[in-house]
Amino acid sequence: MHALIDRFGRQIEYLRLSVTDRCDLRCAYCIPEGFKDFEEPDHWLTFDELERLIGLFARLGLKRLRLTGGEPLLRRDVVGLAGRLSAIPGLDDLSLSTNATQLARQADDLLAAGVRRLNVSLDSLRPERVEKINGRPVLDKVLEGLRVAKAAGFDLIKINMVAMRENADEIDAMVAYCMEHGFVLRLIEVMPMGDTARKMGYVDLQPVKEQLRERFDLIDTVIPGGGPARYLGTADGRFTVGFITPISQHFCATCNRVRLTVDGVLHMCLGQEDRVELRPLLRSGASDETIIETLLQAIDLKPERHEFNEQPTKLVRFMNMTGG
Ligand code: SAM
Repeated sequence: MHALIDRFGRQIEYLRLSVTDRCDLRCAYCIPEGFKDFEEPDHWLTFDELERLIGLFARLGLKRLRLTGGEPLLRRDVVGLAGRLSAIPGLDDLSLSTNATQLARQADDLLAAGVRRLNVSLDSLRPERVEKINGRPVLDKVLEGLRVAKAAGFDLIKINMVAMRENADEIDAMVAYCMEHGFVLRLIEVMPMGDTARKMGYVDLQPVKEQLRERFDLIDTVIPGGGPARYLGTADGRFTVGFITPISQHFCATCNRVRLTVDGVLHMCLGQEDRVELRPLLRSGASDETIIETLLQAIDLKPERHEFNEQPTKLVRFMNMTGG
C-alpha cells in the first residue's frame, strides 16, 4: 500500500529522522557558536516511540529511513535503535548521516545493526581549515572514521562537501581523494538556514559542474537512491560526483521526503514552516488509527517548494534542529 501521496502527486517514501539536535562540531553554516536552545531530554522521542511511529509510517508505504541530527552518533545506543528500526517490515533502506568524529568505534556495530549506507560530512582536507569551518580540530578523527568504515564494507559511502568560497579551491583535491577511496562525492550549495549560513560565501555549483565534467572527462549518470543530486561520473563507473543545488536549480518537484525532529515534530519541507507535532499524540495514548490519520493529514500540508531564493531571510530554524 502506498498512501503517502501529497497534493502535488509526489510519493513520500523517505524520512529523515533526527535522533538528537546536539553536535560536537560547530560548522559555520549550521549551528552558531554559543547556541544553547537544545531540546530537553524529556522531549526526545524514546526508542519505543520511534519504533512505533516508524512502523506506522512503513505501513503507509515509507521505504527509506536516514538517521541524522545534530550528530546521530552522540545519541546513546544509536546502534540499538538502528537494529530495531532496520527490522521494521517494509523499510528497505537504512542509512546514516554523520560527521564521523565518533565513527571509528561504531562503524562495525552500525553495519551489523542494518545500516547499509553512510553520508559523511567533510568540507576540507586541510586540518586548519576544518578547524575554522567546522569549529573543532577533528580532521584526523574524521579520516580515521572513514578508513574504518571503508574497511567494514558499507554498500556505499558518500562524502558531503558544502561548497563555499572558503573551500572552493579544494574541490579538485576532494575529487582526487574520493576517487582514490571509492567514495561518491556530493557537492552541496549552502542553504540560508540562519544568519551564519547566510554570511558564508555562496558558490554556484553550475559552473563547477561543467569544469569538473571537462577536467575529469565525466558523463551524466544516475546512482541508486540518488535523491535530489544530479550526478556525473567516469565512463567506467568507478567515480561519481553529485551536485545538490537547492539555490541555483531547485529540485522540489521530485521531493519525496519529510523530516522528523528529535522531539517529534514532523516538518514537511526544509525551507518552510509547515509542521505537525506528533509527541503529544504519542504520549496521550492515541490509537494507531489516530496517528495514521494524522500522518495522512500532515502529508497533505507539504508545500510545493521552498523559497530560499525569494525569501532568503525567512527561515528561523538551523539545520541541526530540523535534521539535515
Ligand atoms: N552531523 C551529521 C553530518 O555531519 O552529516 C548529520 C547532520 S548535518 C546537519 C547533515 C548535512 O547537512 C551535513 O552534510 C551538513 O554539511 C549539511 N548542512 C548543514 N547546514 C547546511 C546549510 N546551511 N547548507 C547546506 N548544507 C548544510
